[in-house]
Amino acid sequence: MNGKVILVGAGPGDVGLLTLKGKAVLQQADVVVYDKLVGQGVLALIPPTARRIDVGKRASHHPIPQHQINQILLEEALAGNLVVRLKGGDPFLFGRGGEELELLVQHGIDFEIVPGVTSALSVPAYAGIPVTHRDCTSSLHIITGHTKTAPEAQIDFASLVKLKGTLVFLMGVSAMESICTGLLAGGMSPDMPAAVLERGTTAHQRRVVSTVQNLVHDAQAANIKTPAIIVVGKVCALAEQFHWAEERPLGGVRIVVTRPRELASTLTEKLRALGAEVVELPSIQTAAIENNAALAFALTNLGRYGWITFTSPSGVRIFFEELRARGQDIRSLAGLKIAAIGSATAHELEKRGLLVDLKPSAYNAGQLGAALGVAAKGTRILITRARVGSPDLTAALDAAGIPYDDVPLYDTLYTYEQADSVREQLACGEIDYVAFTSASTVRGFVGAIGDFDFSQVNAICIGEQTALEAQKHRIKTVIAQAATIDSMVALLTDLHRQK
Ligand code: SAH
Repeated sequence: MNGKVILVGAGPGDVGLLTLKGKAVLQQADVVVYDKLVGQGVLALIPPTARRIDVGKRASHHPIPQHQINQILLEEALAGNLVVRLKGGDPFLFGRGGEELELLVQHGIDFEIVPGVTSALSVPAYAGIPVTHRDCTSSLHIITGHTKTAPEAQIDFASLVKLKGTLVFLMGVSAMESICTGLLAGGMSPDMPAAVLERGTTAHQRRVVSTVQNLVHDAQAANIKTPAIIVVGKVCALAEQFHWAEERPLGGVRIVVTRPRELASTLTEKLRALGAEVVELPSIQTAAIENNAALAFALTNLGRYGWITFTSPSGVRIFFEELRARGQDIRSLAGLKIAAIGSATAHELEKRGLLVDLKPSAYNAGQLGAALGVAAKGTRILITRARVGSPDLTAALDAAGIPYDDVPLYDTLYTYEQADSVREQLACGEIDYVAFTSASTVRGFVGAIGDFDFSQVNAICIGEQTALEAQKHRIKTVIAQAATIDSMVALLTDLHRQK
């Protein structure tokens, strides 16, 4: 049976501007065919099971010609796949979406279209430019600086000027000079406000606000490159008053967050809410130990223990999956006291209806052991954690003379997806920070990036142990005051404010 092609607008870059429908279909995809302009954050939502085909193109270099892209879509759909064709902005606005559908229609392939947030509107918005305003303009015109037949814009400038509306030019960087001279020759006032907006909605967005007369000079002085849009009209003068994106606490900051593949990251959410651009690099993965005899013994003999401890959110998740697989539920834990290494782990337990009796004042294995050494006197402790866990926990219990069963739940595996683009961005100095929430995320990151001079990397670490691991690779580190996600976010905000 034939598959289907879904044309999806990926928005202008900021992952928050992908539509809910776009995200939902992306997560169902067997194959994703995408362009250069699709944001990193959106690419990170592609499921690991989906095959990725990069047909990236930027300005006038077209690595894969359009007819070949059309052919790829057709062949993948004929092979029965659900194909998501991800395109920057909106798929139909100068996006060749129509051309891609023609061949599919000829072959009777099913398709759907998920419109996207176009750069033509959102990039000005992120620069503080409302594209219409009743005091300035009552119409908006979106124009391409390139056409299929002519590399230079073929535009009737005199008619355009007469419309007196806001003009937005896409793909106009290389044609900027001819656009501005054309507008002046068409009768536009040389003082008409004009702006060029580069890489809008990303952490690296830049804007040059000038006049039609001076725009080329000012854009060259600022070394503006594609992708950028040109906006011409009185509304550009409002940018000074309305710009907001860079003013957010973490506006303009690009951060890599390494996290286990299965865990949604609260760190990512918090950073994005403060305006940071987050690139997620899922560099570790947890795999439950199969036929886990030690765990089976512990679960059938829960009465032996006075306490149970958890040392990571992944550990909590796997423990309860195993419990359920055995036909048991939280009632089996009645009577046991519960310890968690930190607030993220405690939160995972709370989600399952269990409140924590003990959480150490500093979130590390040594402190957890020391606290249990006092609280758990006279009982046996069930420790559930990674196969390779910190010796500090058991050493502290040994010192306190408290018996325990150290039951391994999972192995940490390192995954090496999506690292190429992060390596490239690190090499160009486009990543401000990498956030590490455990020593294993450091190992995963270093393994994923591979051979690299890590002394250029600035890291925010959740605690000492994590920082020590990072320093082994010459990564520059700063450590959060308290070992919590909130404390990492506060540190980043301070560092950025000082900049
Ligand atoms: N379909 C897309 C436009 C594709 S044409 C949309 O709806 O946005 C490609 C042009 O879009 C680029 O040359 C540039 O002019 C503009 N563009 C896309 N994303 C942009 C961004 N983040 N910042 C500035 N311009 C962008």
